[in-house]
Amino acid sequence: MKGRCALAELKTSLWNCNFSHIYVEKEALNHEITKKILSHFKNSTFIEINSYKEVFSRRCQSFSAQKNSPKLILAVKKENFLYKGAEVCHDFGNSNFYYSSSIMNCIYDCEYCYLRGVYPSSNIVIFVNIEDTLKNVEDILKKHPLYICISYDSDLLALENITGFTAMWIELAKNNPNLKIEIRTKSANFKALGSFTPLNNVYIAWTLSPEEVITRFEKNTPSLKCRIESIKEAISKGWKIRLCFDPLLYIDSFERIYGKFIDYVFESIPKENISDVSIGVFRISKDYFKKMQKEYPSSLLLAYPFECSNGVLSYRKKHSEDMINFVYDKVSKYIEKEKIFTLEG
Ligand code: SF4
Repeated sequence: MKGRCALAELKTSLWNCNFSHIYVEKEALNHEITKKILSHFKNSTFIEINSYKEVFSRRCQSFSAQKNSPKLILAVKKENFLYKGAEVCHDFGNSNFYYSSSIMNCIYDCEYCYLRGVYPSSNIVIFVNIEDTLKNVEDILKKHPLYICISYDSDLLALENITGFTAMWIELAKNNPNLKIEIRTKSANFKALGSFTPLNNVYIAWTLSPEEVITRFEKNTPSLKCRIESIKEAISKGWKIRLCFDPLLYIDSFERIYGKFIDYVFESIPKENISDVSIGVFRISKDYFKKMQKEYPSSLLLAYPFECSNGVLSYRKKHSEDMINFVYDKVSKYIEKEKIFTLEG
């Protein structure tokens, strides 16, 4: 028994701590955000590189192994400051729906995360020249309004203490009423935004799941209780709050677990302060899914016989409808139907 404990300990202590090594592109070296980020990691080893792709895009990396000890890469973004919103994502009735990607990868490790199928590495890339993205957005805003999700390929709020990016986006939204932004998060880090005045064109969108799902499938994320506490704090300050019950996962006792969960959420949060709610089942592009399955062959979640429609995999149509209808009916007991947005696989 002693031997087994020692082996387990060895396995955990073998890994370097997160961000033990920080790779910095030459071009990013003198950027103020680089200096700010590096000041948080005085004990890390810094390595200068020419391009983030040298480290991030190498062949034959293991996404799952790197998750045990992710490294940080600081880089300069040269193109693609905005991407068109994907069809599998909610636009909440907004036109000109885009998302930005100033950070690639996430400090959390959800088993269903599409990033597992997108990137060759789970090291985290931060593009320090956020001002170029903001400038690009301002230029477009001169022509037409924009709805931008700023936290899709990462959890921006979870990293706010080291980047300050969310604050910069909020500042931009403050000066541009024709810009609407969504800050999606699973973090419990609302306090990082505590000093800002709430804005009508900024939505903080919390993804919520039953505690059973968080424990099994959302590794390293804050508990449901902690997320709820953070939401309550944001509500008390007057922020617009969006709740995302997305992705719904098919688990044993789905109705009992999700039913109890929805009741708990709306009994804990003043419902009149919720701007809207999104509901969606797990869905993913076929190509990303293939890569995820290869990287995580023992995942029970990914072993489900999903159906493919137009290149997107999800639960069978009837099954998706049943899951969504169940949650929709529960949510609509608390929230007006016009505020509920659903998306099937
Ligand atoms: S919080 Fe979102 S981005 Fe981060 S690992 Fe989970 S699903 Fe992926």
